[in-house]
Amino acid sequence: LFPFFLHYILTSSTPYTALPAVLLLGPSGAGKTALLTLFERGPLTPPSTSEKTTSEPATAAQTHTSLTPASVELAVSSDSSGSSFRDDLDSTGATAKKFLLIDTPGHAKLRGAAISRLADSKYSLNPSTTSRSTVTDGTKLKAIVFVVDAAGLSDGDTSYDTSLPSTASFLYDVLLTLQKRATKAKGSKAPPTVPVLIAANKLDLFTALPAALVKSNLEAELGRIRKTRSKGLLDSGVGADDDLAGGEESDEWLGEYGSDKFSFKQMMEFDIEVDVIGGNVTGDGPGADKWWRWIADKV
Ligand code: GDP
Repeated sequence: LFPFFLHYILTSSTPYTALPAVLLLGPSGAGKTALLTLFERGPLTPPSTSEKTTSEPATAAQTHTSLTPASVELAVSSDSSGSSFRDDLDSTGATAKKFLLIDTPGHAKLRGAAISRLADSKYSLNPSTTSRSTVTDGTKLKAIVFVVDAAGLSDGDTSYDTSLPSTASFLYDVLLTLQKRATKAKGSKAPPTVPVLIAANKLDLFTALPAALVKSNLEAELGRIRKTRSKGLLDSGVGADDDLAGGEESDEWLGEYGSDKFSFKQMMEFDIEVDVIGGNVTGDGPGADKWWRWIADKV
């Protein structure tokens, strides 16, 4: 307990300590803003018990379309009791680890900006592009939560109405950027790699795929994208000079180089941990607790 206590004293007595940050990414409509709101204000709907609550039910923050990410300051209990985002840590007097949860616009045209910031191995969040003054230059990226709509990720072969290709291509860019960042940093004083949680959201809907299927569909699609993107290189005959081509091509290849099928496990080669966990923000289902615990473990 003492190290936590010490940590708390150190961080709480330094007013300008940069908080660790967790970045929310994912296609628009997946539920990023809803999740941020849930973590900030507690459950959107009152508990199903007949118990009357005096507080107003929170309404979801409006999805913003500006370039400015919205961020909220959150805290997890620093002991291992596995606190919930519902706990009011201030009132329990618990020591807490504070972090920033940062929402990003999911609109395709604005994705480049979010991804390009990841490429910097000294990832820092520019205070002028965030809505809260609590984001300072030294803010460290601890984890990425990539939110997907589990009800819209059926295999493109069987469904025309799927966002699997576009979601996977966004995820491919995020993972490849993290992979390049890890490769570039090798040898030098490497920044800690950033773990990724794929939050398979909307499991309250009966049309939603279970997390295991979300995972395998994404893996298959990422493999297809990898094949397509590397085909250009192979067809153009760059392979003539093995040294050069091998180097350049493997830079653009996600996961284990030359492997036939892609799996998230291959990212471990670059110390990038990828987990897929199902849940939901609204309605009945497993809820958001597992995501919260995953985040608590990483900050
Ligand atoms: P964002 O674009 O990723 O920020 O997505 P939003 O947070 O704006 O959510 C998009 C829509 O999905 C909204 O209408 C939300 O109410 C809805 N939504 C978010 N989470 C869930 C969920 O767990 N289940 C269901 N059924 N709908 C959800």
